[in-house]
Amino acid sequence: MAAAEFDTPELKEYPVIPRLQEGVMKHSQPYTAKAEFQEKLGFPGELVDNWQQVAIDKMGELNKKYRSLSVYLDSCVKCGACTDKCHYYLGTTDPKNMPVARQDLYRKVYRRYFTLSGKLFPKLVGAEDLTKEVLDDWYSYFHQCSQCRRCSVYCPYGIDTAEISMAAREVMDTVGVGQKYCNEIIGKAQTIGNNLGLPEPALINTLEGLEEDVEEETGVKVRFPVDEKGAEVLLITPSADFFAEPHIDGLIGYGKVFHQAGISWTLSSYASEAANFGMFIGSYENMQKLALRIRQAALDLGVKRIVFGECGHAWRVAYSFLNTLAGPFDFLDPNYPVPQHICEVTHGLIKEGKLTLDPSLNDDMVITYHDSCNVARASRMGDKPGGQFEIPRDIIKAVCNNYVDMPSHAIKEGTYCCGGGGGLLTDDLIELRVKGALPRMEALKNVVDEYGVTHMAAICAICKSQFSKVFPYYDFTMDQIISLHQLVSNAIVLTPENATEDDDGNDTDDKNQAEAA
Ligand code: SF4
Ligand code: SF4
Repeated sequence: MAAAEFDTPELKEYPVIPRLQEGVMKHSQPYTAKAEFQEKLGFPGELVDNWQQVAIDKMGELNKKYRSLSVYLDSCVKCGACTDKCHYYLGTTDPKNMPVARQDLYRKVYRRYFTLSGKLFPKLVGAEDLTKEVLDDWYSYFHQCSQCRRCSVYCPYGIDTAEISMAAREVMDTVGVGQKYCNEIIGKAQTIGNNLGLPEPALINTLEGLEEDVEEETGVKVRFPVDEKGAEVLLITPSADFFAEPHIDGLIGYGKVFHQAGISWTLSSYASEAANFGMFIGSYENMQKLALRIRQAALDLGVKRIVFGECGHAWRVAYSFLNTLAGPFDFLDPNYPVPQHICEVTHGLIKEGKLTLDPSLNDDMVITYHDSCNVARASRMGDKPGGQFEIPRDIIKAVCNNYVDMPSHAIKEGTYCCGGGGGLLTDDLIELRVKGALPRMEALKNVVDEYGVTHMAAICAICKSQFSKVFPYYDFTMDQIISLHQLVSNAIVLTPENATEDDDGNDTDDKNQAEAA
């Protein structure tokens, strides 16, 4: 169970490798899922009687299914290059949060049951039986990995702890020990369509209210349509975008971009969630169910393109797996990638000169940018390597006059996770979340002190929620984290006069939406 009280780590000027404190985070475990939520996802409701055998069988199945997994388990040479690369180790000081030690929790069991040396001479090769104590350690420390892949960047063999962590969680679910936060959310998304359990009428109501608010503020009727058949774009965005700050400011930005570019678009009440927590628990089947809802929504609405909003892991699933999970998408317009990121759309429109922008409207801020780990290390954007780093920065520089990057070790490929990714964004893990945010907080403090940075922009719903929560622990304020598209929204010069007009005086966006309806 998570500790009720803890000390926030002290911010240092430079990253300092901490002294080891063995077992200090062993107590940190998320709540387990109740039977009803486990069973909804096809897992046993509680620890099954013959759990060791079930777990070993599952490990054997995963070895066959994912060749990468056994390669990772067999190839570590204990060089130590990854040991100081995990934000959870740096923030908590627990040696089991060193990536190699985390992997070894799984590796020692793998060796015991799946290698000859481990079967014959377990002690000599560090192999261990799968005991209840080992399972408890798995539950603690595989829920202290946000699957961010930072360690894999520095490993000479490219060993990806994230995949081992996903496998361990899948094994735990299979024996009946699932995590409450992830599994309840997956159930909601599979039955209602989004993580929040927001039903269709509430969604429509929320978006109508948003249209009124934006019209009141801008004098322009920017639409936020739901279930409009024949729209060009289906926008799949995290449900946090529908009401919570700073997320909703990003949604307003997407709406303004589509409006000014004259692109008809719609949300779907059936697939009203970009997030796909199936990935966090390593479950292909659960990941696929959510992906298939998106396919179905695109078919039902007859759209030509699928665009994803600001959500890091959703983009990882979409970019890396959507076509495998739910393709082929041959019914969409082949002139556009499937799927597309909202940043790619906005970036393309800026380059084509289709958006009227006044960056001075953001002059009250000095911005830095947090590369979300899933976008940085598990996906791309655009058609060039590194596009996932350049495209968001290009957009920010087009809409803001004051931009500064954080130190080089803390951005792009080397970016630090926010501390709440990988299915750990739950209050029962608040100690871990605060401590795991330490390296990002240090990098941010650096540019706040040196360059007067006032705000950090991000393109991930989890990062935004996590920073809103943990900023006050480090003497920042919640509102210093903002959506990238909030900056776009601020800078778009959107007046009734400059909306693109056709010959009849109707603005193009209204015409497209009317046709779509
Ligand atoms: S994937 Fe990220 S969170 Fe997990 S061990 Fe590696 S650096 Fe740590
Ligand atoms: S960097 Fe790679 S090979 Fe070296 S200890 Fe870590 S996981 Fe093993």
